[in-house]
Amino acid sequence: AKSGRYGAICYCNKVMLGELQRRREIVRILREKLADQSFEMYYQPIYSVEDGQFRFAESLMRINHSSIGPIYPSEFIPIAEETGLIIDITYVALEKVCRFINRLLEKGIALESIHVNFSAVQFSQPDLKERVLQIIERNGIPPSAIKIEFTESTLAESPQTVTEFVLDMEQYGIKMGLDDFGTGYSNFATVIGIPFGTIKVDKSIIWASAGNHVSASAVKNIIKTFKALGMKVVAEGVETEEQKEFVTEIGIDQIQGFYYSRPLPEDDMERFMLSHNGD
Ligand code: C2E
Ligand code: CA
Ligand code: CA
Ligand code: CA
Repeated sequence: AKSGRYGAICYCNKVMLGELQRRREIVRILREKLADQSFEMYYQPIYSVEDGQFRFAESLMRINHSSIGPIYPSEFIPIAEETGLIIDITYVALEKVCRFINRLLEKGIALESIHVNFSAVQFSQPDLKERVLQIIERNGIPPSAIKIEFTESTLAESPQTVTEFVLDMEQYGIKMGLDDFGTGYSNFATVIGIPFGTIKVDKSIIWASAGNHVSASAVKNIIKTFKALGMKVVAEGVETEEQKEFVTEIGIDQIQGFYYSRPLPEDDMERFMLSHNGD
C-alpha cells in the first residue's frame, strides 16, 4: 500500500462490502427458504415449578444453509424485519408449529402450549387476526395450544393495536404472552391492564438479580403483582443451579433456560417430553 491512509480506506470499504454482500446473501436465502418453506423450527422446553413437568415450549427459528452454514436469529430476524419478509415467514413458522403440535397430540403427549414469536411489523397487517385463525383452524389444533409471544418494545410501539389483538385472540382461546419484560420499553400500567396469560422476565433481569438482594426484592414484588392479576410469570435464560434456585425463591411459575435444555429439533423435543414428563 502507498500510504496508511489509503490502506485504511481500502480496508473499510472491503469490510463494508463484505457486510453488504452477506446481507444481500441472507435476503436471498430468506426468500428461497420462504418459497420452499424450509425454515427449521427448534423447541426449547419450559419447566413448570408447580408440577415439575415440561408442558410448554418456545419455538425458535433456525437456518442451516448448505453453503453458508448456520445463520442465527440474532442476524437473520432483524434482516427479515427490515425487508418485511418476516410477515410471511411468521405464517410459515406458525404452520410448522401447528403441525408439530398435531404430531405430539396424536402420540398422546401431554402438551399445554407452544409459543410462537411475533415481531412488531406483524401488527401492521390488517388481516393478521384472520390469517392466524385460518392457520389454526386448517390444522385443527386446539387454539389454546398456541401462545403468541411478542416483546415489550412491540407493545410500546403500538399499544392500541396490540391490546385489541390480545383481547381478540383471547376470545378465540389463543393464549398471549409478553416477552422480554424488564428491558425498559413498557409502561407498567399498560402491561397490567392487558390480560396476558404469561409475562416472561428477560434474561438480563434474571442474570442481574440473582445474587443481588436489592434488585431481587424489587423483582419479587413485581412478580407478586402479576400473579395477583392471575398471570403466570416465566423466567428465561436460567443456566445455573443457583439461578434456578433464585427464580424459584422469588415465585416464578415457569423456567426456561440452558439449565434444563437448549432449543431442540422436533425429534429430540418429542423424546425430551416423553422421557421427562411422568404422571
Ligand atoms: P427470544 O424470543 O427472547 O428467545 C430466547 C432466546 O434466548 C433464544 O435465542 C434462546 O435460544 C436463548 N436462550 C434460551 N435459554 C437461554 C439460556 O439459558 N442462556 C442463554 N444465553 N440464552 C438462552 P435464539 O433462538 O438465538 O433467538 C434469538 C431471538 O431471535 C429470539 O429471542 C427472538 O427475538 C428471535 N426469534 C427466534 N425465532 C424467531 C421466530 O420464529 N420469529 C421471530 N419473530 N423471532 C424469532
Ligand atoms: Ca420469545
Ligand atoms: Ca425473551
Ligand atoms: Ca429477547
